[in-house]
Amino acid sequence: MASSPDSPDTVARSYPRTLDCVHCGLCLPTCPTYQVLGVEADSPRGRIYLMRALAEGRVEDPQAIRPFLDRCLDCRACETACPSGVRYGEILETTRAALERQQPTPGPKGFLVRTMLWHVVARQGRLRFAFAMMRAAEVLGLRWLAAKLRLIPRHMAEIAPPVPTARERRPLPTGLHKPPPGVTPRGRRVALFTGCIMEPMFGRVNRATLDVLLQNGFEVHVPKAQGCCGALLVHAGQPERARQLAAANVAAFAGDEIVVNNSAGCGCALKEYGHLLGTPEGEAFGRKCRDVTELLAAEGLTATPAERPVRAVYDDPCHLCHGQGVRSQPRELLRQVPGLQLVEAERAEDCCGSAGIYNLLQPDVAQQIGQRKVDRLQATGAEVVVTANPGCMLQIDSHLRRSGHPAPTLHVIELLRPPSPPT
Ligand code: SF4
Ligand code: SF4
Repeated sequence: MASSPDSPDTVARSYPRTLDCVHCGLCLPTCPTYQVLGVEADSPRGRIYLMRALAEGRVEDPQAIRPFLDRCLDCRACETACPSGVRYGEILETTRAALERQQPTPGPKGFLVRTMLWHVVARQGRLRFAFAMMRAAEVLGLRWLAAKLRLIPRHMAEIAPPVPTARERRPLPTGLHKPPPGVTPRGRRVALFTGCIMEPMFGRVNRATLDVLLQNGFEVHVPKAQGCCGALLVHAGQPERARQLAAANVAAFAGDEIVVNNSAGCGCALKEYGHLLGTPEGEAFGRKCRDVTELLAAEGLTATPAERPVRAVYDDPCHLCHGQGVRSQPRELLRQVPGLQLVEAERAEDCCGSAGIYNLLQPDVAQQIGQRKVDRLQATGAEVVVTANPGCMLQIDSHLRRSGHPAPTLHVIELLRPPSPPT
């Protein structure tokens, strides 16, 4: 398959990784698309076989294998299961980039992955404007009308919760924040990564993150020049654009502080900037990054969270458990919430079907995967679902609403807030 010789995103780059697969099939039972579709080509082993054949020039029409790669969630459950250490995510992302360069995704999906991701989601100002417009349309009843007239696809209308108010969407103040009076400072400063969608969609999570860090004695620096991490672009086969965003973030977080984030998908991408950029600066940046639960579990809570007498289930985001190996820390923190009873769901590490914008691009498969997820969460009898990624929060929340048994879907950090001081 022809590739630009000066691009790092060629199938030749990931070819040696495909040879690590010994075809044992131990990854198959963990793969959500194989569980749902039952087809070898929609399994990790099958996809690796196809990508290896492509790299060896044995595939007559490279685009013919694309639907199988497009249906992959890039959830990396197969990496956790694999005894041979196959770096599946790297193989997939490199191959997707090569195929996308050869023939860009056509139609509305192409518009979504090229135009919307790059020109709107990755530009904070435009994203804020888009949310303001969506909120206005909602208030005027136009969203309801558009859904009724089928001007927006049904699955999109169902996934999207009400757009938060302007007050809820307000961005975090940038600059340096110090622990409030009465809190013993730790003498530690961290930098906070605020993300793209997290800010307008779940501003409350960013505010809780800042608040919990300050209440636990950290100084928090929120750099103004930071931006989207580029994860969605990497998943969509556009690493060149993701590299521009990564380089800007490396420059924005130039200090020595730990870079904290509260989004599993972003956190995984930030830690992998070394691979994406192929530079020592990218590697050094990746080593500084921590999920907020990772930081707080390692450093210890000094502020006792407010009492929450609820039965809660924690659902592992793929890019936290499989991508970053963070599993025990969120649970450890939740067990410190007074009154909270933490229960486990069956197969908590299975993907929920969100996977960035997968639920918009592959709605049928995402619907089946999402339904299995909420069935297992509901079987625990939990009153609250807790997770650590905005995409998972949206997907689980939409399936819970559709099931007729909505339950609050919260981020771990929201449950770690200490009681408010009496007013
Ligand atoms: S990344 Fe997830 S969906 Fe893709 S092959 Fe691996 S387990 Fe299956
Ligand atoms: S578990 Fe690893 S080696 Fe075995 S088939 Fe899956 S990817 Fe290949």
